[in-house]
Order: sequence, then structure tokens, then C-alpha cells
Amino acid sequence: MLLPMAQRVLVVEDEEDIAFPLVRTLEREGYEVSWVDSGQKALDTLPSAPEVVILDLGLPDIDGLEVCRRARAAGFEGAIMIVTARAGELDRVVGLDYGADDYLAKPFGLAELQARVRALLRRTGGSAAAGEEAKPDGLRIDVDARRVYAGDDEVPLTGKEFEVLNILAANRDKVVSRGRLMADVWDENWYGSTKTLDVTIGRLRQKLESVGVTDRVVAVRGVGFRLEGGSPDA
Ligand code: CA
Repeated sequence: MLLPMAQRVLVVEDEEDIAFPLVRTLEREGYEVSWVDSGQKALDTLPSAPEVVILDLGLPDIDGLEVCRRARAAGFEGAIMIVTARAGELDRVVGLDYGADDYLAKPFGLAELQARVRALLRRTGGSAAAGEEAKPDGLRIDVDARRVYAGDDEVPLTGKEFEVLNILAANRDKVVSRGRLMADVWDENWYGSTKTLDVTIGRLRQKLESVGVTDRVVAVRGVGFRLEGGSPDA
């Protein structure tokens, strides 16, 4: 397999017996792999912006979910895949939005892990070559199918990202308040934390930018967000 450039994977795992075969397999696949054995080291390493983080939940210092939350709060935009040996906890974890992109229960096969990492990189636009090729004009939203296209290419969005974009697009060039987005997409009282909204908007922007569309999500300070189809200097 030929990669346009070495894509970087950070493995956060305190058990050597699990970490070593993981690192070896990913290196053989052509990734540049770093390994840390604690949550704090993971957070310290994130500014180097790996494309994918494979994050164990059971870490000796900081719980993996908290690492995930702090990483997103700090603006980390790469893909995060959570792995956990806590049987039966995966459903609960998936239901909470900590900003992870994928989840895998231990024990897992290395082949499955490799496939998931490849899929994550495709979905998050981790391939720089693919992003540079795409020069579509704007977005096309198929509301019934809940799919978004940039030119002929589908933009892979999560359910929440789609809903946020859909509301913004229906109100194109107008400001949609944070409260309305929180209420419509998360079904929550907006006096609660809107950090989740900011994280979702951040990832939505990243995905739109990675496919080269001219539509942009603009933050209107203290009010909300607006979808504009302007040029980059508008
Ligand atoms: Ca562990």
C-alpha cells in the first residue's frame, strides 16, 4: 500500500502486551507510530497533531474519556478511536458525545483495527492528496438521504454534524443562534454546556475545508453561526 506521506498514529495504551503488537502492525502498514502509556503523556503529545489517536479507556492516570474530552476542548481535530476492555460499557460510552470518531471493544483483531484506522483516515480527510484534488464549488445536501456532497464526492458527516449543517443551510446567510442549534440537534436546554456544539462545528468546518468547498461556517460572536458561500477572503 502506498501512502502519499507517512500518516501519524498515536497509540495511548498502558499495557505493553497490547501496545507492542499494535505499534508493530501499524508501522508495517506504513504509519509513523508513537506510543505513550498515560493520559497526561497523550495530552502532552497531541500538539504534534497525529492524524489518528487510538485511545485506551483504562489508563493509570486520567480516564480515557476525559483524555478525549480534554483533547477536543483543546482543539485537537484528528480522529480518535476509543478502545476499551470494559465489557458492556461501549454502548454507554457511544451514547455520550465525547468527540470520539470510532469505538472498538477489546479484544480486537489487528486486521480489524487496521481496517478501522484506514476508514477513519478516509472519513476525516486524512489523505492530503485527496483533499487537494477536490475542487467543488459548493455543497449539495440530500435531506431525505441525509447525505452531503461536494461536487461528486460525498462528505462523510456524523449524524450531529449533518443536522447542524442542515439547519445552517436551511438558513443560509442568516445567523442561527446557539440556543436553537442546541435545542434542535441535541434536544437540550441550551443553558447547559455548548462545548459539544463548538466541537461539532469545529469538525464540520474541518471536513468542509478538507473537500475544498467554498461554503464556510462563520461564528458570530455571542450569537451563533452562519453558513456563507463566499470566497475565502469574504
Ligand atoms: Ca489499560
